[in-house]
Amino acid sequence: MTTPHSGQPDMTKKETRGFETEVSRLLQLMIHSLYSNPEIFLRELVANASDAADKLRFESLAQPALLENDAELGIWIDVDAAAHEIRIRDNGIGMSRDEVIANLGTIARSGTAEFIKGLSGDQKKDAQLIGQFGVGFYSSFVVADRVEVFTRRAGATTAEGVHWESKGEGEFTVEAVERTQRGTEIVLHLRESAHEFADAWRLRNIIHKYAEHISLPVHMRKQDEEGKSGEYEVVNKATALWTRPRTEVSEEDYKAFYKHIAHDFEDPLAWSHNKVEGKLEYTSLLYVPKRAPFDLYQRDAARGLKLYVQRVFIMDNAEQFLPLYLRFIKGVVDSADLPLNVSREILQQSDATDSMRTALTRRALEMLGKLAEDKKEDYQTVWKAFGQVLKEGMAEDTANREKVAKLLRFASTQAGTDSQDVSLADYVARMKPEQKKIYYVTADNFAAASQSPQLEIFRKKGVEVLLLGDRLDEWLMSYLTEFDGKALQHIAKGELDLGELDSAEEKAEQQAQEEAAKPLLERMQKVLEGSVSTVRVTHRLTDSPACLVREEYDAGHSLRELMAAAGQQLPESKPQLEINPEHALIRRLDKEAGEARFAALAALVLDQATLAEGAPLADPAAYVQRLNSLLLELLPA
Ligand code: ADP
Repeated sequence: MTTPHSGQPDMTKKETRGFETEVSRLLQLMIHSLYSNPEIFLRELVANASDAADKLRFESLAQPALLENDAELGIWIDVDAAAHEIRIRDNGIGMSRDEVIANLGTIARSGTAEFIKGLSGDQKKDAQLIGQFGVGFYSSFVVADRVEVFTRRAGATTAEGVHWESKGEGEFTVEAVERTQRGTEIVLHLRESAHEFADAWRLRNIIHKYAEHISLPVHMRKQDEEGKSGEYEVVNKATALWTRPRTEVSEEDYKAFYKHIAHDFEDPLAWSHNKVEGKLEYTSLLYVPKRAPFDLYQRDAARGLKLYVQRVFIMDNAEQFLPLYLRFIKGVVDSADLPLNVSREILQQSDATDSMRTALTRRALEMLGKLAEDKKEDYQTVWKAFGQVLKEGMAEDTANREKVAKLLRFASTQAGTDSQDVSLADYVARMKPEQKKIYYVTADNFAAASQSPQLEIFRKKGVEVLLLGDRLDEWLMSYLTEFDGKALQHIAKGELDLGELDSAEEKAEQQAQEEAAKPLLERMQKVLEGSVSTVRVTHRLTDSPACLVREEYDAGHSLRELMAAAGQQLPESKPQLEINPEHALIRRLDKEAGEARFAALAALVLDQATLAEGAPLADPAAYVQRLNSLLLELLPA
């Protein structure tokens, strides 16, 4: 027999549920990784309470009834030393039963599973990574072996309160409770190792460290000399940090505020706090973090600034205010012009957003530029964490291309290591007097770039070449054709014209070589027909027999692969083969009278040039066969 309600769980019943697998693993790792920094639980819970208050304020704009005569939003913290208990209560938005189950039983962020797979079990490393991931509510279990949550969503009836409880060991319970207070109360039953936190002074200190500057008041009970508790008092400054004049905000305040909004353990490397008045009025506070979040390269990862309108929180991750390549910048923007009911859709179409975006982009680039100038080492940290993202700016932001170009850092043949600390300005300053162009090479990785055969002539002449070893580099650099009036030149593309770097004698010699090699070139051309567009004499090589070269605007093999992977097939085009007539192997080839042997050798030369480029061979089996038959001829039986 079925009842009309079959399948519907009884919402008043106590229910035991398992955590999502990811949560269980994350909890385990977190407890073990954060033991050296347990106090962050308070920062995380206060941040959540503050977000909950922001959300309620926002929802109450449209539905004032949600405030239920309780409009003074805040956080209240109580300590019971004897019971080893901490209670953290807010009167923010609260949660419904479904929200409790979804928010405190799963991890909704995409990429979580991969993130957890990436953890090594090495506590030090994992602690770093977990910091990047953002620890949130679950950090409660670092100090508590039992956590209870009592909550009621704004607008819900007092019968719709929810009690959640867990020991952080794989499962939790939820049940309906009567709850008059709106909002959320978290009860931490401290582990023995964390009993020290059931101390009001200790907690006040942590609040000063992490929550001084949040706009929400944090209340704790006054204590008399005997330690007896009295009335509540506000223990933080509780004014939104960005609304204060710069001169009144200390460096420590700025850093702590960053940690609050970014959920980061680390200090930021730089910040820029500005109030703009005029046609548009807004305040912005932008930060450069020290390290990349785990999902920097995930398309759907949250990014953007926290948006306020006249100090009212509107939304997190307002991505309309900065371009994609500056997605690592954190901060807040508080506008006096946008309407309070602004939505993402409205933001997208608003002229105010556009002007703010232009100005904030400029600010962010200036902040990075200043850091690069004043604190080279810190900028190197930024470059390591975000350089590859910043490079995207050359394709994305034509208007600021020159500014972005100044921020780029490269490895170069000067150091020969993948140190990526050479700016284009450094390069230009070191250019030889007779040098007209900025030379660079791209490959799939640094090793391949630094071993490109095309570098040989530059090494010989002592001309610096920038070495780019990321798969996207070839594409990104194609957007940067000029810097400081100097053309940028890929050394494996186009005809090599070293201009005045070659003397008149060298030029004459090259011409003579070309003349002399004509018959050989023709012969090779014939046997390699279909695999290469032309065969010609190289001026790039000193030690290698041959290399591949592309037309100036033609894509090399890694860019081709990249485009193909993205579903965009580039039109077929053949590379050019350049040979070094001085090389012993090419000389030997020239003397080869047997046509079959000549063809096999020529094919080998082409295959080797292809391999040197890091590209796959069209027919690897044929290559192996050719090589083996040559080896057999050479080796004594
Ligand atoms: P995050 O804050 O990064 O989203 P958390 O694990 O800290 O992750 O919290 C998960 C979700 O639980 C939050 O996004 C929020 O929706 C909800 N939540 C947590 N604490 C509170 C609270 N005090 N009031 C209302 N909702 C909360």
